[in-house]
Amino acid sequence: MTLSIPSLEPSTQGARAFLSKQRKTLLIDGAWFDASSGQTFTTYDPANGRLLAELAAAGEADVNAAVAAARRAFESDAWRGLTPSARGKLLWRIADLIDAHADELAELETLDQGKSLKTGRFGEIPAAAEQFRYFAGFATKILGKTIPTSIGYQPAGRKIFAYTTREPIGVVAAITPWNSPMLMAAMKLAPALAAGCTVVLKPAEETSLTALRLGELMIEAGLPAGVVNIVTGLGEAAGAALTGHPDVDKVAFTGSTEVGKLIVGAARGNLKKLTLELGGKSPAIVMSDADMDLAIPGIARGIFANAGQVCVAGSRVYAHRAVYEQLVEGLAREADKLKLGHGLDPQTDLGPLVNRKQADRVAGFISEATNEGVEIIAGGAQVGEEKTFYRPTVVTGVRQDLRMMQEEIFGPVVAVTPFDDVDEAISYANDSPYGLAASVWTADLSAAHRLSARVRSGTVWINCHSYFSPELPKGGHKQSGWGYENGAPGLENYLELKTVCAVI
Ligand code: NAD
Repeated sequence: MTLSIPSLEPSTQGARAFLSKQRKTLLIDGAWFDASSGQTFTTYDPANGRLLAELAAAGEADVNAAVAAARRAFESDAWRGLTPSARGKLLWRIADLIDAHADELAELETLDQGKSLKTGRFGEIPAAAEQFRYFAGFATKILGKTIPTSIGYQPAGRKIFAYTTREPIGVVAAITPWNSPMLMAAMKLAPALAAGCTVVLKPAEETSLTALRLGELMIEAGLPAGVVNIVTGLGEAAGAALTGHPDVDKVAFTGSTEVGKLIVGAARGNLKKLTLELGGKSPAIVMSDADMDLAIPGIARGIFANAGQVCVAGSRVYAHRAVYEQLVEGLAREADKLKLGHGLDPQTDLGPLVNRKQADRVAGFISEATNEGVEIIAGGAQVGEEKTFYRPTVVTGVRQDLRMMQEEIFGPVVAVTPFDDVDEAISYANDSPYGLAASVWTADLSAAHRLSARVRSGTVWINCHSYFSPELPKGGHKQSGWGYENGAPGLENYLELKTVCAVI
């Protein structure tokens, strides 16, 4: 079946105005610059291949300038002299500006990334604003402690008075992936700014537009120059220059496990602190007593949302044999129901993948798996004039050792496998180098909590999949990462502890 994609224009004046400025520049020290080399790269609408913008490709010299600006801002009175309340208010103002520009930001995100407008407008863009609101509250609650001591070496007649303070870690390099660009940037910027750090943000080269528009909004909010700098560019150039830079104190990275490992090596020089939010291969376990009216649409949403380009996408489903057939049929029905189209079309459920390369990659997994005897129950086709769409796909007959069961596909593909007892389900679920998230589906809440304890992953959802909120810590076990974002642990990433010990 062919898929024809109409050429759609953004409806908001803001998105049109932003796109009409053809060349996008780097934000360094509060002003916008071309790359010092003059080099650029381009970004396209993945639905129809239309050129959206030419962007400055930052190199080492630009990264050096951005890091130097961030360092100056970190030491400046304009930033460090702000009261915690003033810092919190700034974050809140950024949130309000995101909300005020939500239609425009959602359109830019759809054009650049491909996602359906409803995913951005009612999901990710408001969630980005909420990140800033949540961490705004922390700015006034960063506290130390006084500590009574036990060892009595102090001079006679004197006492020891000891306390801790919390200090911002310094200059942060924030590096983000292409799947949910604005939300990923907000998840790093909000806690970093609440803590009092300064940031050099490098968005993914495939989807940098909303980061740049956010940069304009942060200036409008009154953020002092140099507190947030934005360097667009390629990972191996701008990204590598940032992660190896000797004056960057911390790297907050979200992306693939493969690049995460490169960053561990690059950060070695000055022992940068690292948080790594990496890939996943999340299982969903469906017990025989699961409420199938909840499980079928919930699991379908958990894998097909954002065309499967979600780190926690539930790509491996293990269903008790008693409900296996019903689940496979139900997921196939849900897959067939989803309408593919241009993300700006309000009728669209699923847009394209981020680019042809990613769609080819998904198709590669499926053709390899079918050669291994895997059966396609729904979908299984790469479509669209640019071949950037992939139909939501349900497969059965997989083996655990297949590449599609061990590696992250990052596309709308789910494999369903039957199991007979809980131990078998747990051993399947944990048979992965990843440990990002999982879901368990059952009406027996005691069983649900027992299962949750046995799954090796940073998050377990019970009777839902892919629920996020800034209050909930999110991070990976095993090769899905180091550290946690969101919640109170999300702030800790950006703070150092200092112990002060005095004889008084
Ligand atoms: P990626 O690892 O290819 O790129 C991520 C970022 O790293 C980009 O900005 C890229 O330019 C940069 N980069 C690439 N090479 C670099 C290098 N050598 N040095 C420094 N930076 C470099 O990831 P992607 O393809 O953009 O995104 C998809 C991946 O992100 C998936 O694996 C997905 O699971 C993961 N992800 C994880 C989470 C999470 O919270 N755990 C969330 C979203 C996405």
